[in-house]
Amino acid sequence: MSKWVIFDMDSTIANINTRKRLATKSGKMDYSILFDSNLITLDQPNLKIVDLLKSLKDFGCKVFILTARPVENIQATIEWLKDNNIPWDDLRCKPHNSQYQKSDKFKESELHRFFNVHNSSPEQVILSVDDDEKNIRMFESYGISTLNP
Ligand SMILES: [Mg+2]
Repeated sequence: MSKWVIFDMDSTIANINTRKRLATKSGKMDYSILFDSNLITLDQPNLKIVDLLKSLKDFGCKVFILTARPVENIQATIEWLKDNNIPWDDLRCKPHNSQYQKSDKFKESELHRFFNVHNSSPEQVILSVDDDEKNIRMFESYGISTLNP
């Protein structure tokens, strides 16, 4: 029976401070800049979290990367993970039809999809890592321990 760990991308695996700074105009976030696929190469790996991910992978856990980045970013995200030698087994971005869904609702529906696709259950998820308080509460409502980096 596989054991899984779930990791968020932005401000968890990836330090996105540069992208955030470029996207912030007079105190407001321009999401077309924040989620510009060409800017993802500016992200820096959060080494503490990447080490944790790799250790869990070495211990035989499978890695599910669950991010609310729009699906347009998926190729750039895959390239970035490859460039930074970060392994994963399943990866989901936010599809078009979920564009306006709140992150915790999106992640909750993806969690259900995940359990179906992998014939898995919350007991098989040993840890989740996410920086968003609402996401953390959602994971914990399934009994999944969640670490805030
Ligand atoms: Mg995040």
